[in-house]
Amino acid sequence: MPELPEVEHIVRYLRPRLTGRRIEAVSVAALARPLVGRTIRDVARRAKLVLLPLDRGGTLVVHLKLTGKLWVRPAAEPPGRHARLVLRLSGEDALVLEDARRLGWARVHDDAALAAALARLGPEPLEPAFDLAALRARLHARRRSRLKPLLLDPAFVAGIGNIYADEVLFAARLHPLARAGDLAPPAARRLHAAIKRVLGRALAARTAEVPDQERVGAGGRGAARRLDLAVFQKDGQPCPRCRAALVRTVVQGRGTYLCARCQAE
Ligand SMILES: [Zn+2]
Repeated sequence: MPELPEVEHIVRYLRPRLTGRRIEAVSVAALARPLVGRTIRDVARRAKLVLLPLDRGGTLVVHLKLTGKLWVRPAAEPPGRHARLVLRLSGEDALVLEDARRLGWARVHDDAALAAALARLGPEPLEPAFDLAALRARLHARRRSRLKPLLLDPAFVAGIGNIYADEVLFAARLHPLARAGDLAPPAARRLHAAIKRVLGRALAARTAEVPDQERVGAGGRGAARRLDLAVFQKDGQPCPRCRAALVRTVVQGRGTYLCARCQAE
């Protein structure tokens, strides 16, 4: 599943291609009425959501979930067999949402509904406002929670999924099941630094013009190698820090990768 860095890359790919384009036709009847004739004002991201604000109010909101991809293609080109939504745009292009697993979604929210949906999300981890004090206050408020479920909770912090949660906890040398309330000040500092560093590096590593949504895709086996990760899906391989074999465990039903030595409970 694309997480914050990948969604941000998709947004950067889409922004120059979609801003100012008029929507001329829509393949899904339920979305045609709110979208046809409207102009896309911008492309933005909040958490893992792609936001396309429209002229005269309202926003098209897309969540790519596991396998969703957004492409701008020539309108004359037949959409792929996994196309779920096609917006024909001014300028002979089309915005195509492809989604093999069909878990992704696209909705039009009016301004009030969008504000309410976004208000439920936690802070953007790379924003300066998400400083150490902000993290410590949130850890205190959720002190009985365990760290990995907390990082995956979009109300705690936005945009972190299964891959980067494991990478962050490894970088911070913290066990996925450690309790938020048990973190000493140095450990909280390491966690904060790791969130900024791991996500920031992932964002900086791939600033290509075309996003690597094809390669990130479903994040299946092999995603770790392509994303240049330290622990995710690397069970059995040596820990990059201490060379002990990395292990896989399951936390809340999610495959979880760690170094049991560096991230002792
Ligand atoms: Zn280690």
